[in-house]
Amino acid sequence: MKKVLLHICCGPCALYPVKVMREKSIEPLGFFYNPNIHPFKEFERRVEALEMVSNKTDLSLIWDSRGYGLKEWLDALKGESNHGARCLICYHMRLEQTARKAKKLGIKTISTTLLYSRYQLHEAIKDSGERCAKKYGLNFYYEDFRKGWMEGIEISKELEIYRQPYCGCIFSEYERYEKVSKRLNKRLFEASEIKGGELS
Ligand code: SF4
Repeated sequence: MKKVLLHICCGPCALYPVKVMREKSIEPLGFFYNPNIHPFKEFERRVEALEMVSNKTDLSLIWDSRGYGLKEWLDALKGESNHGARCLICYHMRLEQTARKAKKLGIKTISTTLLYSRYQLHEAIKDSGERCAKKYGLNFYYEDFRKGWMEGIEISKELEIYRQPYCGCIFSEYERYEKVSKRLNKRLFEASEIKGGELS
């Protein structure tokens, strides 16, 4: 059976790709390396969700030894906070580490569950995955897993896996709640200017 080191961004995103790979007689070994996920409690929750996926689907996993990586991720970003540019850095650092790990383990092919998300920059992930694989003399398993978006959601509901409300980094959390935070900011501003500091 062919083996693939599958970078896993989170538990729910792994469900559909793992199912598809198994249907093709490929057994993925899951690799969790995501220093982009903040804050710590959210990171911990996603680790627990992936452990649950692993238990419920018999998926073998390996974890990156560095664990929670806020500083590492911010260092890699070098101050880039704009969506798009920062995501390219974020994809690349995770996929390069996946390629490094695969090389060390003697696994010839890598892939990523990032290819499942409708909200990611799909072509950029494919390009980054191919470049990282090539750099380490590996293959990149590409498939447009987005076609199974709804199926993956249904499976995660059946298995009662935690589904996170934002991509992972603190900037994506800000963007997720931007409208709500603008409304709150407006209220705070009005209260401070008009009512002497009292919230309505
Ligand atoms: S939005 Fe997601 S992919 Fe983009 S930088 Fe943040 S965590 Fe990484």
